[in-house]
Amino acid sequence: MNLNNINTDEMKIAKWWEPTEKNKILCTLCPRYCKMSEGQPGFCYIRQNHGGKLYTIGYGRPTGFALDPIEKKPLSHFLPGTKVLSFGTAGCNLGCKFCQNWSISKAKLDDSNSLECSPEEVVMLAKKYNSPSIAYTYNDPTIFGEYVIDISRIAREEGIKNVLVTAGYIDKEARKEVYQFADAANVDLKGFTERFYNKITFSNLKDVLDTLVWLKHETDIWFEITTLLIPGENDSPEEIKRESDWIFENLGDSVPLHFTAFHPDFRMMDKGPTPSSTLKCARKIALDAGIKFVYVGNVHDREGQTTYCPNCGTALIKRDWHSVLSNNLRNGECGKCGTKIPGVFN
Ligand code: SF4
Repeated sequence: MNLNNINTDEMKIAKWWEPTEKNKILCTLCPRYCKMSEGQPGFCYIRQNHGGKLYTIGYGRPTGFALDPIEKKPLSHFLPGTKVLSFGTAGCNLGCKFCQNWSISKAKLDDSNSLECSPEEVVMLAKKYNSPSIAYTYNDPTIFGEYVIDISRIAREEGIKNVLVTAGYIDKEARKEVYQFADAANVDLKGFTERFYNKITFSNLKDVLDTLVWLKHETDIWFEITTLLIPGENDSPEEIKRESDWIFENLGDSVPLHFTAFHPDFRMMDKGPTPSSTLKCARKIALDAGIKFVYVGNVHDREGQTTYCPNCGTALIKRDWHSVLSNNLRNGECGKCGTKIPGVFN
């Protein structure tokens, strides 16, 4: 799509904006609150001012589909062992230097790397492949919130669940609408200092924490948290302890926490991959802080990927990487002692 040659008749007008002075537009979808002059895109690239209106040019234009294991999102307590129809669009509202998906999030939307797919067609694809859920993933679904709402509404009518994989960097009012048909989310908590968020992701921590508290206390959405550990940036035991303590105090002991391994990518090629010992250490710190379900990812570590009963210690769901090896849950309860395990299992 050539920005100089855009046909607004084919584009969808966005929600969440207001006109400001001198024909500018203020986008109120995420806490970046971009102000755009005529013809300009916002930071995320796929929301643009044309003729004094904000258009969402990612609407109906996914960059591709895949049937992923739900464990890849990662979600360990949501329909384990199932596939999820997964897609994203171009663009992103964060600027993570370590982006592990940058070929999509930094892509420009053009006819060669995007498809045309209506909300109805996305849901039809999920049905065709017997996928019990749809994941809005690869880039951040916040920036294509209008498309999320339209797809997820139809999916829910059809009995298909909706999973948002997100950084949680979204405006308070907009998120009520974007998440209204969501069943599950995985939220990246990318670090636990404002320094890291400001310098490495070009966003801020406090808005992400606000989304986590909102998810826990004002919605019924099942959610899990992921922290990608980058050597020397956000992996100190002190920072992991502060993150774990915050989760325990503000979200309780039952929100699953995933520590995943970084690999050198995008603008962070100078760091090595995360050692397994760092992941194991982080898992122990979080377990010691009282969080009941702590996992490691992007490595082979069967112990760190197994779900254990917090009461009797039985290994309930054994995994290796994204594969479920065995499942000893019975109707969401421990097959040995009957303790209810939090999550969505049917
Ligand atoms: S959604 Fe995009 S255009 Fe809107 S404020 Fe965020 S980055 Fe800017």
